[in-house]
Amino acid sequence: MQIFPCPFCGPRDETEFLFAAEAGKTRPEPAPDVSDAVWADYLYGNDAPKGTAREVWVHLTCGEFFVMTRDTTTREVKSCAALPGKAS
Ligand SMILES: [Zn+2]
Repeated sequence: MQIFPCPFCGPRDETEFLFAAEAGKTRPEPAPDVSDAVWADYLYGNDAPKGTAREVWVHLTCGEFFVMTRDTTTREVKSCAALPGKAS
């Protein structure tokens, strides 16, 4: 078991969280001109880096999305922060 820090609720069990996306991905635009392959890569293609990764997670209990920076090899959580525009 691992404890993840929700920026809104504080430390919680990892089973209360879901991975949402890699942070910093840019949505391809304009949408009508985006090919199926580019759209599929945007939705499902992940770099999955070994080491430090910035990811968007959702805390299912409060429903808030936030950015978590963690080490994928050691499982160390380095930081958690609300998405821009959200008060923590
Ligand atoms: Zn929360």
